[in-house]
Amino acid sequence: MTHKTYDLVIIGAGPAGLTASIYARRARLDAVVLERLVPGGQILLSQRIENYPGVPLPISPKRLMEKMQRQAENLGMKLEQVEAKRIELDGEKKIIHTLSDKKYTTLAVIIASGTEPSKLGAEGETTFVGRGVSYCATCDAPFFKDQEVMVVGGGNTALQETLHLVRFARKVHLVHRRGMLRAEKILQERAFRNPKVEIIFRSVVKVIYGDSQVEGVKLKDLETGKIKKVPCSGVFISVGLKPNTDFIRGLVELDKKGFVKTRANLETNVPSIFACGDVRKNLLKQVVVACGEGALAVASAEKYINKVKGIEYK
Ligand SMILES: Cc1cc2nc3c(=O)[nH]c(=O)nc-3n(C[C@H](O)[C@H](O)[C@H](O)COP(=O)(O)OP(=O)(O)OC[C@H]3O[C@@H](n4cnc5c(N)ncnc54)[C@H](O)[C@@H]3O)c2cc1C
Repeated sequence: MTHKTYDLVIIGAGPAGLTASIYARRARLDAVVLERLVPGGQILLSQRIENYPGVPLPISPKRLMEKMQRQAENLGMKLEQVEAKRIELDGEKKIIHTLSDKKYTTLAVIIASGTEPSKLGAEGETTFVGRGVSYCATCDAPFFKDQEVMVVGGGNTALQETLHLVRFARKVHLVHRRGMLRAEKILQERAFRNPKVEIIFRSVVKVIYGDSQVEGVKLKDLETGKIKKVPCSGVFISVGLKPNTDFIRGLVELDKKGFVKTRANLETNVPSIFACGDVRKNLLKQVVVACGEGALAVASAEKYINKVKGIEYK
């Protein structure tokens, strides 16, 4: 059976993929977006977004992403709920294999598959997932009303999680392995002046303990080597991101952590495969960056597609 050949397949419908879809439709490319869950991406895990330029406060990420999705749909976005499993190179064509039996043949691909939260690797972490250990304060904070909780991490997401948790919890211990935080200064200032937040620097989580639920954490002080117990009923882990690149491992060049390496035009080492947003090896993982890269990836992909089709702008 012969398959239809798309101009472009976009994998992932977060901010990067949805923006790519908007630009692809405006370029009149025959494109399809593959999304394993629902459109919107990781930002849906957050309560509010206050650094997307031109969007007046307060806006929930859900509303912002619904607007992006609608904008893409109004332009005729084709969206399919499938998970990309593997990309096969077939001469000038690429075949995307999915978890279902569906396959997509295309001239070019944009990888916009984003990331997932990294695991901490502490003893007890896996045992207590859903029983006190969480990777999403927005989802789980209300379960910890008037209780003591811990956030592990020192970046923007860890601080945002902390500032969301103080609305519910009695106290939030913020544990970071370094002597200073990495997050935006504006977020640090808010955490420093909140009386419910206690910051514990230069410490790491060794063990998360409890019976059927989390009851506390054993922390190791990296300067003294001493272990201390901190009783708490929730542990929110925010220690980095793991890129969703298993389906392209071995095909596209990745860095040591698995992020996609690209040139400045967002092309990977495989001509015709481009990457944008959080999945890419870049400095800042934010919605505004993901959107910008989504637009740029389409501009580069369009150039490539035109070349393959022999279309030349005079
Ligand atoms: C708690 C939290 C708070 C945040 N707060 C902010 C903030 O205030 N401001 C800000 O700018 N940024 C914030 N961010 C970061 C922001 O969410 C990301 O930078 C942004 O979502 C990246 O967009 P993306 O499209 O590159 O990837 P993602 O949003 O991760 O989207 C990737 C999509 O690809 C899909 N996918 C993955 N693999 C496959 C596959 N194999 N097949 C099909 N689909 C697949 C996923 O389901 C997902 O929908 C926050 C993140 C978190 C977690």
